[in-house]
Amino acid sequence: MSEAKGIKLSDRALRGLHFCYLHSQPRAAWRFRLNLGMRVLVVEDEKKLGSFLRNGLAQENLVVDLVHDGGTALTQILTQAYDAIVLDIMLPGRDGLSVLREMRRQRVNTPVLLLSARGNVNERIEGLNLGADDYLPKPFSINEVIARVRALLRRASGDHATIMQVADLSLNVINREAMRGGAKIELTNREFALLEYLMAHAGRVITKTALCEHVWEHHFDTGTNVVEVCIQRLRRKIDDGHSPKLLHTIRGAGYVMREGR
Ligand code: CA
Repeated sequence: MSEAKGIKLSDRALRGLHFCYLHSQPRAAWRFRLNLGMRVLVVEDEKKLGSFLRNGLAQENLVVDLVHDGGTALTQILTQAYDAIVLDIMLPGRDGLSVLREMRRQRVNTPVLLLSARGNVNERIEGLNLGADDYLPKPFSINEVIARVRALLRRASGDHATIMQVADLSLNVINREAMRGGAKIELTNREFALLEYLMAHAGRVITKTALCEHVWEHHFDTGTNVVEVCIQRLRRKIDDGHSPKLLHTIRGAGYVMREGR
């Protein structure tokens, strides 16, 4: 491999690359079922309210980033992949509607829930015209925000197979049941998320970084062996006493779920 070098890209090329990146993200459906690893950006300049929103959404197992102004929000939106955005309209600097306008112009289609202090109908109409998916006037209850965000995530996740199958291993994502050779396998939430992700991408080698980002949290330290430990536990549960082995480690590359080595 040659040494990595910085490459200067035009704005247009950068947008194109970003667009490809966003659309290469695995479908949100599998994560939505478990409500694990779905990433939400909260944009709110009132610090207390922002923390309240972040904590409320994090309790739903969502991975939440919180920013306090429109400029930072836009940078985050254009460089990170989120599953939903909670966007306050009244912000210092670039306001919420301007952030929304710019992200839609740059073809970022992440669902947006707008928040506003005012029940201003014109503002609401303008927001919806700019491509907001929902609108919530302040004050609101945290349960209402959670319900709206869940609705956005559900809508964005699209259709999804209920039962995934690799060889004689099956995973029902509705009743969360894993079975192999007719026997039920007990899984922790994390093991379930890991298995679901690997099965959703069966046959493809998944890097540790991808697992960290999608099954664990955004700022996960990849230097630890948390992923390896969880993989080992999962492997014991699904492969011990069974043939063929399904969960393989590809040295230096990652993990793959498939029948053959
Ligand atoms: Ca505000």
